[in-house]
Amino acid sequence: MPANPSGYFSSQYFYGGKIMRVFETIKAAVTPMQAAEHYGLRVLPNGMTCCPFHKDRHPSMKLNKDYFFCFGCGASGDVIDFTARLFGISLKDAAEKLAADFSINPRPPEQSEIPNCHAEPTRDRERLCVCVLQEYLRHLRIWQLRYRPEKPGYPIHPRFAEAMKALPTVNHLLDCLLGNDLLLAEKTAEMLCEEGYTRRLSEYLGTLSEKEGDCA
Ligand SMILES: [Zn+2]
Repeated sequence: MPANPSGYFSSQYFYGGKIMRVFETIKAAVTPMQAAEHYGLRVLPNGMTCCPFHKDRHPSMKLNKDYFFCFGCGASGDVIDFTARLFGISLKDAAEKLAADFSINPRPPEQSEIPNCHAEPTRDRERLCVCVLQEYLRHLRIWQLRYRPEKPGYPIHPRFAEAMKALPTVNHLLDCLLGNDLLLAEKTAEMLCEEGYTRRLSEYLGTLSEKEGDCA
């Protein structure tokens, strides 16, 4: 399978089963920033770097904890997408390259079915927000891929529209919750819970999983 040409969709939806676990192991072990630095990009302390995917004179790519986003060309994805696109290789080859270059054992430990709530937030409230948002993110990325208009001018599917609208916010919130700024994480979780956002989103996700055939 060729590398995802746009770099826009998470690698995890291109493969199923075991390899997805391998991808999760790699993504938990290497951040996009670590990969970018390892592969020779100069990264500023704020995580900005010159985008390798378009002619970028001033750093317009933000490297976050678990995804990258270019404000110039819109390239985004996780560390495996990044590596695949940087070297023009498949996602599977990119995962293998990362495993080799970062000495990761790609055979993941046994995991439960609970979504991967990395970063071990110290508070239950933060952990809850992260889990709910990551679950929503999973749906959004599937919709973004599955319902994208086949050609310009085709009608926009409501779920594609929802994904395009919600993805930046969800990514931003996860960034706040999983970043190094613990006070920001705490305040974000507080806001999301006290305004009932997490509860409402969780209920909404419940209605989606009832029609899981729709989303699997
Ligand atoms: Zn770019």
